[in-house]
Amino acid sequence: MNSGKLKFDKVLCARCNNERSQVFDRSYDVFADYLHEKESLIVAAGYVRLTAIFGAGWRDRMPEVVKYFVKHVCCRMAEDRVLIPKGVVDFLNGVRPDLPHLSMEMSINLSVHDLAKHEADVHGVQGGSLWLGPQQAYLDPSGTSIDAVSSHLGVNCFFLGYVCDMRSPAGGMDFRGDCLVMPRYKPEGLQDVEIRDVCRDCNPKGPALADADG
Ligand SMILES: [Zn+2]
Repeated sequence: MNSGKLKFDKVLCARCNNERSQVFDRSYDVFADYLHEKESLIVAAGYVRLTAIFGAGWRDRMPEVVKYFVKHVCCRMAEDRVLIPKGVVDFLNGVRPDLPHLSMEMSINLSVHDLAKHEADVHGVQGGSLWLGPQQAYLDPSGTSIDAVSSHLGVNCFFLGYVCDMRSPAGGMDFRGDCLVMPRYKPEGLQDVEIRDVCRDCNPKGPALADADG
């Protein structure tokens, strides 16, 4: 598998990959290609400069990337038969400029990064990984309606976490100027382990890295 070709499209339903959304896809492709090419630098820095990806047009292009992510979240909610808030649909359709309810943050999973580097350096294995967390639903106190859903997904070490809060007017993705900060973390249980101790190739009979997307 060529990680450069790994896209979130793999987890999007065909119905949502329609013509209207192809403009989002094109901006996302530019964004994803840059993340792939500069992965080591971005992991070291903990942020990306959107001007470095899109040039002066980043203020127009980055909202399309955000809509690409929103489209993905809507697909997953639809799959689970969760009612998508009207405000989110209106944002996607360009009816309103701001995104309510849905908060998203990108982060860097250092364990996934370290394991991929180990696989490449030690075992000569080049590959990508696609991660899809379970979607959790939070019910209202009466247990009759869904207050919020949350989940995460990742392409290689770059993860997108989201929370869709049906009652909150706030949402979106935070940028500091043209800077997209990506906090770096190691999932619980992997903070203190050596990669070679959890590598399947180094430990054919040992513990597997089963929880890297936590
Ligand atoms: Zn190994």
